[in-house]
Amino acid sequence: MNQAEFLTACRDLLGRDHVLTECADTGTYLTDQRKRYVGNALAVLRPADAAQTAALVRLCVAHGVPMVPQGGNTGLAGGATPDTSGRQVVISLRRLDRIRQVDADNLTLTAEAGCLLANVQAAAAAAERLFPLSLAAEGSCTIGGNLATNAGGTAVLRYGNARELCLGLEVVTPQGELWDGLRGLRKDNTGYDLRDLFIGAEGTLGLITAATLKLFAQPAARMTALAALDSPADALALLNLAQRMAGPLLTGFELMSDFCLQLVAQVFTSQRYPFAQPYAQSVLLELSDNESEAHARDLLERVLNAAIERGIVRDAIVASSLTQSNALWHLRESIPLAQSAKGLNIKHDIAVPVSQVPAFIAATDPIVQGIAPGARMVTFGHLGDGNLHYNVMAPDGIDPAAFLTQYQSPVTAAVHDSVHAHRGTISAEHGLGQFKRDASAHYKSPVEIALMRALKSAFDPLGLMNPGKVLPG
Ligand SMILES: Cc1cc2nc3c(=O)[nH]c(=O)nc-3n(C[C@H](O)[C@H](O)[C@H](O)COP(=O)(O)OP(=O)(O)OC[C@H]3O[C@@H](n4cnc5c(N)ncnc54)[C@H](O)[C@@H]3O)c2cc1C
Repeated sequence: MNQAEFLTACRDLLGRDHVLTECADTGTYLTDQRKRYVGNALAVLRPADAAQTAALVRLCVAHGVPMVPQGGNTGLAGGATPDTSGRQVVISLRRLDRIRQVDADNLTLTAEAGCLLANVQAAAAAAERLFPLSLAAEGSCTIGGNLATNAGGTAVLRYGNARELCLGLEVVTPQGELWDGLRGLRKDNTGYDLRDLFIGAEGTLGLITAATLKLFAQPAARMTALAALDSPADALALLNLAQRMAGPLLTGFELMSDFCLQLVAQVFTSQRYPFAQPYAQSVLLELSDNESEAHARDLLERVLNAAIERGIVRDAIVASSLTQSNALWHLRESIPLAQSAKGLNIKHDIAVPVSQVPAFIAATDPIVQGIAPGARMVTFGHLGDGNLHYNVMAPDGIDPAAFLTQYQSPVTAAVHDSVHAHRGTISAEHGLGQFKRDASAHYKSPVEIALMRALKSAFDPLGLMNPGKVLPG
């Protein structure tokens, strides 16, 4: 490859301002969100639309340049960070940021890949519809990145993850062809589902340039409550009861251990521990109601009273206003921030079948304690999806960095083994990227890995599309 010729051709195609080569301009694109990976790139390239993206990919192919797609760069697995060779380019999709169409009657919205998730939500709301994907990074992640990672978030229990919210895609293939699969169809049984292959592929099979997304009716009211319980098993019993009584109105069910709430209260003095006395577990429940706030409150109170009568719930707070409801969600969202304030943690984003969550916690906590005595478990997550952020913090008074150096590998290996034994996954919603690529391959069967490799080489025979991510080399 002649680098100078390649860069000149890129400038001719995209315009000088959108071919970034100076460190001062490229820096933020080359380091991942968690600052675990720092890459190097020949250039950061910023196409303006799908046709330009396709032409750019053809140019990369002609010069044999490996490509790393990037959206908001909020991913937590290093998937959007180039390697250190300086031979790869980052293709940033951020300039593809138009909402192309809202079809309120078909309950669909077509957005370009670089639209921020928050802007997609706002466009849906402007049409009095709901786009339910919601995560703490929604102000900076893109819908293309959400689909490429099959993002989850807080509303999966009711609405599903990004995959389930997508009806159609527009994709630039690794050869630089543009596939218009922007179908707004609920039914389409015409062969292999290409859309679903690109979703969750973390940019290894092609570049998503636009998506047709599902919208929903906006709920008339949302009602939130916090329930105090003695154990994860009680939380599971509450989930069953709430699903039986509220059905699809139950849109959030988040588990938080006592230590998580203590940590938030310690770090953020404005956030009190919510109950008069400590309880081993808390659950944040949210109902989204199509009738009214009064109906939602009545239903939520009936669920909680039934749970108290059965001895499942020990105490409960039902939010009396939107402000109080936001404050309860704020407690949940503050857990990762409180953790970070206390230094590095050993983090795991795992899922097991919902029914196995109590057994998983009961089996795994003692294993972790056996390896790292005194470690503090920061366990919280989307219990309704079986997804736990199962994090391990250094014992009080121990330097977090030294703790990580000593215990990260053995603790993570033991946690992942336990996840596998409970028929779970070591990456529930953050993807594999380069961070979990090898560990995932360790747990997948040779048949599964061979099928994945066959797909990769069928789509990308030259291996130029996000190499080194998802599958080991
Ligand atoms: C504070 C915080 C909270 C978070 N909470 C959640 C959560 O609750 N649930 C959750 O699932 N995730 C969560 N995340 C992780 C992250 O926000 C998601 O993974 C998000 O979907 C990534 O979107 P992005 O646009 O930033 O993608 P990037 O980080 O830019 O890229 C992620 C991956 O997708 C690929 N990619 C990006 N755009 C495209 C495209 N257009 N075409 C093809 N491939 C592409 C990249 O190559 C990379 O492999 C959180 C992150 C932060 C920082």
